[in-house]
Amino acid sequence: MSEAGEAVLQGQVALVTGASRGIGAAIARKLAGLGAFTVLCGRSRRHLEDTAASIRNGGGRCEIAECDVTDLGSVERVAANVDSAYERLDILVNNAGVGAFSAPLHRMPPESWEQVLNTNLRGVYYCIRAFAPTMIRARAGHIINISSLAGKNALPNGAAYAASKWGLNGLSYSVAEELRGHGIRVAVICPGSVNTELSPHTGKDASKMLQSDDVAHAVAMLVTQAPQSFASEILLRPTQKP
Ligand code: NDP
Repeated sequence: MSEAGEAVLQGQVALVTGASRGIGAAIARKLAGLGAFTVLCGRSRRHLEDTAASIRNGGGRCEIAECDVTDLGSVERVAANVDSAYERLDILVNNAGVGAFSAPLHRMPPESWEQVLNTNLRGVYYCIRAFAPTMIRARAGHIINISSLAGKNALPNGAAYAASKWGLNGLSYSVAEELRGHGIRVAVICPGSVNTELSPHTGKDASKMLQSDDVAHAVAMLVTQAPQSFASEILLRPTQKP
């Protein structure tokens, strides 16, 4: 089932937000390839169908759950469905995110600020609020937040995006301590630029950039750790500057 022919996550249930394309699609394919039943979340069923088809073609198991992470009711509906259908959630990957990289903060419209912060930061809070109780009941689980090196560095013309990711890092470190005693490992992955549609790559050599599968590999490393091991943060850079 996986590239190594092993299904180390067999019997587990995973949920990936923003699974319709880019990094989220790669993470969903990876987790399903390792044997997890994978719930694919995104705002549009039509966009999620491609990821579902590639998982099923590879022999993996998944379902689509339309969900807007900025809408608490929408997130809670998915959480209730997952809890009643499977009575467990082993892996939650908070990946859904939007970028805004074209103007200095003083020229950014308030609606764009709202969209970036509500998706990249509030959305993660909503998902943790909705799904943590299932994990707490099981006294086990992985929550993996996809942040960015923009959450570690200055990003001119991307101040709101950087603020959302700096915030997400602080949220992740804090929730990690809140949930650690419940047997839940909360980790954050901070990749540099990844070759997806999120941001323009003008002047960059795409072949040297990180690829979505590199982030998926980091997720797989986290969820296949021994029970006593807790890698809490991964900074992911390309080998050569693109
Ligand atoms: P893409 O734009 O390729 O994909 C974003 C995904 O998020 C889509 O599946 C989209 O689906 C989903 N999404 C957006 N808004 C919502 C919402 N409100 N509710 C549910 N799903 C939503 O981006 P990437 O794959 O590049 O990025 C994924 C994550 O990785 C983001 O958090 C991003 O910040 C982070 N990241 C990206 C880097 C890069 O260079 N690409 C570098 C570092 C981090 P739909 O529109 O159908 O809802």
